[in-house]
Amino acid sequence: MKSFIVNGINDYQVIEQNVPSFSDDQVLVRIEYAGICGSDLHIIHGQNPFATYPRITGHEFVGTIEKIGASVSGLEVGTKVVVNPVISCGQCRPCQIGRSNVCTELQVIGVHTDGGFTQFQAVPAANIIALPGSINLRDATLIEPYSIAANVFNRLDASSGDTILIYGAGVIGLTIVQIANVLGIPSIIVDLLDEKLETAKQLGATHTINPKQENTEQRVMEITNGQGVPLIADAACIPALIPEIMRLAAPAGTVCLLGFSSEDSPLQQVEVIKKELTIVGSRLNNKMFPRVIEWMAQGKLDTEFLISHEFTLDTAPDAIELIENHPQEVRKALIKMH
Ligand code: MN
Ligand code: ZN
Repeated sequence: MKSFIVNGINDYQVIEQNVPSFSDDQVLVRIEYAGICGSDLHIIHGQNPFATYPRITGHEFVGTIEKIGASVSGLEVGTKVVVNPVISCGQCRPCQIGRSNVCTELQVIGVHTDGGFTQFQAVPAANIIALPGSINLRDATLIEPYSIAANVFNRLDASSGDTILIYGAGVIGLTIVQIANVLGIPSIIVDLLDEKLETAKQLGATHTINPKQENTEQRVMEITNGQGVPLIADAACIPALIPEIMRLAAPAGTVCLLGFSSEDSPLQQVEVIKKELTIVGSRLNNKMFPRVIEWMAQGKLDTEFLISHEFTLDTAPDAIELIENHPQEVRKALIKMH
């Protein structure tokens, strides 16, 4: 079989390998599609502190069950499945209190262990979720990206009548827009690229703001009658924006941060205290796959618009180069494995 493998920083290729062996509690998945994510590029660029090399990247992947480990029950060969990349221990405090996506022993498939940019992969049975017949595998590749957005709303704890302000109209921002629509929450989205804002608009964003053309703070205060916004999701992840984000939060608002920067972020205490803001982080997803699968099966998520490119496994390196050199042209690029 063939695999896309990252040998080290900026060193990747498609190689021929043996189909992996699998243990009693795993299943062997025949992978059909995988999505390329910004975090795959971070591993390629040496910017992910958790990744070791060589590594088969890819944490957004789907396929069919090829073989089943001896101790696995409830799964059948040939079933269409999606893989939740979050592996947790079940024993530590976060796991015990229902927050297994921040398990102290957390492992992410495609980061800590080999992932989906290959034709077959051994995956713990606990990470396999069978798909309903109404969802096709190509769309299902987006379940993991949507689970990131679903987790944001889980952390934000939205009330009816709330509006959300979203920084960044990349794939994460766009999935947040779509799930806001599903939940009936109006959205305001901020990005420096008009093409991305146009996409956000087509996916249902209520307002778009380009800070190159208008003052974000003025505009948000106009839209909200000077109240600020009760829900904010930062999918732009630029530390310098934190003071503006805190100023735009409404009293008793919640701000959800998604960035992974280790740079210091300036935070003005007065904004947080006078409005009693809640600041939360969101990482990966906490058992959000069933919720996303339900929305997708009901046709509530516009998957087709999010997928902009499809590559073969042999041309996966071209996909990486395209995303690196023309990021504004790419929404979600998929790799078809067979
Ligand atoms: Mn991803
Ligand atoms: Zn744990």
